[in-house]
Amino acid sequence: MQIKIGNTALHLLQGDITEVDTDAIVNAANSSLMGSGGVDGAIHRKGGPRILEACKEIRKKDWPNGLPTGKAVITTGGNLKAKYVIHAVGPIWRGGFKNEDKLLASAYRNSLKLASENILKSIAFPSISTGAYGYPIESACRVALMTVRSYLEKKNVFEKVIFVLFSQSDFETYKKAIGKEFDL
Ligand code: ADP
Repeated sequence: MQIKIGNTALHLLQGDITEVDTDAIVNAANSSLMGSGGVDGAIHRKGGPRILEACKEIRKKDWPNGLPTGKAVITTGGNLKAKYVIHAVGPIWRGGFKNEDKLLASAYRNSLKLASENILKSIAFPSISTGAYGYPIESACRVALMTVRSYLEKKNVFEKVIFVLFSQSDFETYKKAIGKEFDL
């Protein structure tokens, strides 16, 4: 499925983000940047040790206490098809009373900003925070779509943005939400 926002093609894809060949893929990282389970684990496994080395450097140099929620950093993509990995920290769901929506929007926005600063033309996102971090998929999906849409409407810098959903049911949720959001 694909729609256009300005000059940017927005795609929905069901599958494994580690197989995607955009300039950057986004990792749903945690503050430690040391890798863990879920999409984070998959990216480090397939991308190899250079990604973790780069993350350790960033921790040492810029974020000794960990990367705050809502922020993003960029590293090599190691052995991945994508040249770069953007590590973004989404919020842990705490019932919706702890600014989770703003922090999630910020994780998406800061990832786009980093990609744009590095003159990247294509970027792929997983569904940040909706796995181990427990953010309900319907709400997270709305935040993701609205944030990316409003960024793309202001800045016409990307050729392609892809949302990569691991499960069929997350893919269907995104598809439905895109239909509503864009009057399809
Ligand atoms: P978080 O801690 O931010 O919730 P998770 O990795 O636990 O991060 O989950 C985020 C989303 O990533 C979930 O929807 C999960 O199904 C999905 N996911 C897990 N592995 C992959 C993968 N290889 N490609 C794309 N999405 C993935």
